[in-house]
Amino acid sequence: MSRVYNFSAGPAVLPEEVLKEAAAEMLDYKGSGMSVMEMSHRSEPFKKIIEEAESDIRELMNIPDNYKVLFIQGGASTQFAMIPMNLMKNGVADYIITGQFAKKAYKEAQKYGKINVIASSEDQTFSYIPDCSDLPVSEDADYVYICENNTIYGTKYKELPNTKGKPLVADVSSCFLSEPIDVEKYGIIYGGVQKNVGPAGMAIVIIREDLIREDVFPGTPTMLTYKTHADAGSLYNTPPAYSIYICGKVFKWLKKQGGLEAMKERNEKKAKILYDYLDESKLFKSSVNPKDRSLMNVTFVTGDKELDAKFVKEAKAAGLESLKGHRSVGGMRASIYNAMPIEGVEALVAFMKKFEEENL
Ligand SMILES: *Cc1c(COP(=O)(O)O)cnc(C)c1O
Repeated sequence: MSRVYNFSAGPAVLPEEVLKEAAAEMLDYKGSGMSVMEMSHRSEPFKKIIEEAESDIRELMNIPDNYKVLFIQGGASTQFAMIPMNLMKNGVADYIITGQFAKKAYKEAQKYGKINVIASSEDQTFSYIPDCSDLPVSEDADYVYICENNTIYGTKYKELPNTKGKPLVADVSSCFLSEPIDVEKYGIIYGGVQKNVGPAGMAIVIIREDLIREDVFPGTPTMLTYKTHADAGSLYNTPPAYSIYICGKVFKWLKKQGGLEAMKERNEKKAKILYDYLDESKLFKSSVNPKDRSLMNVTFVTGDKELDAKFVKEAKAAGLESLKGHRSVGGMRASIYNAMPIEGVEALVAFMKKFEEENL
């Protein structure tokens, strides 16, 4: 068996310890005689799994009691619809467009109300985060929407927008649990888990209780109503049980690493190694506004498409996987999520230096 350094943006690298534990428990989960995959979601062992997962993420993120934690199927994209369907009271929402996922969310929301774009960085191919300190937030906006870390472009909000009292809704898919955040500044925090937490197919939604309503958009399916999942403790129907199990293991791993403060420190250290090299390299460059750089997704280019392709190919041969940029932007992207060890980033930079020497 040989494992590669996997820089995929998602599904992405998971802690090896977690995978090994899951492997060891595959045939017989803690004396139950079965895999978690084969187990009733109403069983005692699973009840313990989901309860511990919730209490561990609450502890990690310091989630106040007036917020619910929901495990919901359908990845992050399903939330693009659930958010407007559940939150629209006045039928108005404000969106800040900093990349493709924010734009997709915006387009989906337009089906359910009047959506205003109050800021955008599309004029410079999403290479920066707009100044959001004094935006024209709509008087009657039900919420203000952001994508906090832009997976494709490699930017991140370093300061949250001033929403002028409106609830902030944030897609944190690609920065989930990468650093401590102040939950109380948000109405909803949500993310697909396959970037930084677990297996694909599930979103975790952290929602302030007053935003969980019965009078949702007419015709909203039962399964797309937050109240359904909140009232049932995410067990209205069969939840993505195995995904919850693995996420739970990742939460325990994070606690063992020292929690989100420690992860932040580690993630900053990892990203610095890569950005410092990019800043001095004569071949590679980062195309993102330095103050908006993501700690999780580091994008870079040589400026020559053929050389980019050569780099990706040779890196793969050297055991550095999935460095190709998103199909819409090209270039390269190294996703260095929580589970990417510092050695992986060091190996990448060493390889880049060698490539630079050979190709400059
Ligand atoms: C990957 C990603 C999504 C889409 O997630 P799915 O689970 O595939 O729907 C949405 N937002 C962000 C920020 C992402 O990185």
